[in-house]
Amino acid sequence: MKKEIVSELVGIVGEDWVVTDLSQMQSYLYDETELKIRPRACEDCVVVKPATAEEVSSIAKTANRHLVPIVPRGGGTGLCGAAIPTVPSIVLSLERLNRIVEFDSKNLMITVEAGVTLEGLLEEMKKHDKLFFPVHPGDEGAQIGGMVAENAGGVRAVKHGIMRNHVRGLKVVFPTGELVNLGGKMIKNNMGYDLLHMMIGSEGTLGIITEVTLKLYAKNPYVGTLLVCFDTTQEAADVVAEILQAGITPLAIEYMDREMALVSAEHMGLTYPATQGSVDLMFILDEASLDDLYAKCERIVEMCEANGAVDSLIAETTQDQRTLLEIRSNVYTAYKENLADSLDIAVPPASVPALLNDLKAIAKKYNTTAPAIGHIADGNMHNYIMLENGKLPDYLDDIRNDMYMAALKYGGTITAEHGTGKTRKKHMDQQFTDREIEIMRGIKKAFDPNHILNPGTIID
Ligand SMILES: Cc1cc2nc3c(=O)[nH]c(=O)nc-3n(C[C@H](O)[C@H](O)[C@H](O)COP(=O)(O)OP(=O)(O)OC[C@H]3O[C@@H](n4cnc5c(N)ncnc54)[C@H](O)[C@@H]3O)c2cc1C
Repeated sequence: MKKEIVSELVGIVGEDWVVTDLSQMQSYLYDETELKIRPRACEDCVVVKPATAEEVSSIAKTANRHLVPIVPRGGGTGLCGAAIPTVPSIVLSLERLNRIVEFDSKNLMITVEAGVTLEGLLEEMKKHDKLFFPVHPGDEGAQIGGMVAENAGGVRAVKHGIMRNHVRGLKVVFPTGELVNLGGKMIKNNMGYDLLHMMIGSEGTLGIITEVTLKLYAKNPYVGTLLVCFDTTQEAADVVAEILQAGITPLAIEYMDREMALVSAEHMGLTYPATQGSVDLMFILDEASLDDLYAKCERIVEMCEANGAVDSLIAETTQDQRTLLEIRSNVYTAYKENLADSLDIAVPPASVPALLNDLKAIAKKYNTTAPAIGHIADGNMHNYIMLENGKLPDYLDDIRNDMYMAALKYGGTITAEHGTGKTRKKHMDQQFTDREIEIMRGIKKAFDPNHILNPGTIID
């Protein structure tokens, strides 16, 4: 990185917050994308750690003057290579923007700086025990800014939805350096085009988020986790719509091929409680009374048994619930070393049973299994394609394309929550028309005329 750029950055944030030494920079160059398919990071970078939105703005102006790219960096937990700098870049870490700005109980909202981690937000919420924030991607090291930039989903979207449903206001530095406030503490706002929602899911390509206002929800005091075991994928998949139609809306309905739960439990040194069956549905329910909680669990079990369930277990203690969630959340980490790719496709929820059937047939065609885990009530499945003898299998591109085409056939998407980033960018034309991509390029140019913000991500 050019000396004059480094010295301008030092002038903005101070010497202590500019990293040029490669060994200290390493942990800022990669994210959690599967090792064999993640893009190679460019090492000609500088890491800068501003403490205020004004410093972020000055850095953007410097980058524009020198036409050097900026890659915003949150917690580095992303799964699509979006935070990996692939050309000489300023890696702008938001970690020092980590203050809770305001807890506003009357509006049921909280405002935090973008570098507050999910763990930090959850700690803060413990102080306000009547309200909670629902979105929970598996890794609590994710930052709130990163969760907005990736429009994160996670296990609890069934009842409350994804990040987009909860973001009310953003403070953003545009790539050209202007600091703006988008949205606010409003429930309704129809003035002009909605730039706030353009930022959500833009993966650090349209603006640098420095502050986020989130909607909070009244907390139901009684939480239970129910595990229901089936012999076949189809039996498990078929019952989900029936449960939702019955007016039962759990926080989460997760699908797991048993082998994945067992691998994760072993990796975590935990015991998986289920032994019968080969696939599981995990339900997390939050209810206003213990009676409601038990009644809904019983109703779910009845419907599952009528659909062939072979066993069911309820985790009532906080510890048992945490154990199950930990096993679920760590499946990716447990498999990561042996993974070629983990897919993130989604279809309309009613099409999941048919999709799962198709995915099994596709895996069989390539003589493999591609085990599945997923947020089944959201229609979002993660199929794992494994390495073979430590190498990417020859059929990786073909099986992935077949699975993507299966999702698109049902009106689905190639990525539901993990993002396009740098790894899925090459598949944009499978999902979008030329005209749609051209309009996206126009949007990018309008926000970022010098193309300095996270180049190589989503579109060129
Ligand atoms: C074990 C595991 C489980 C996961 N489970 C889920 C899951 O269930 N659901 C889900 O949705 N995701 C999941 N993820 C993915 C990941 O946690 C989310 O994508 C998360 O939102 C990324 O946040 P981050 O702060 O780590 O962002 P990073 O990885 O640092 O960055 C991601 C992108 O956001 C941009 N960015 C970061 N901060 C900002 C900012 N302040 N302003 C502008 N752009 C910014 C970066 O440039 C990059 O393009 C999981 C990841 C792991 C490792």
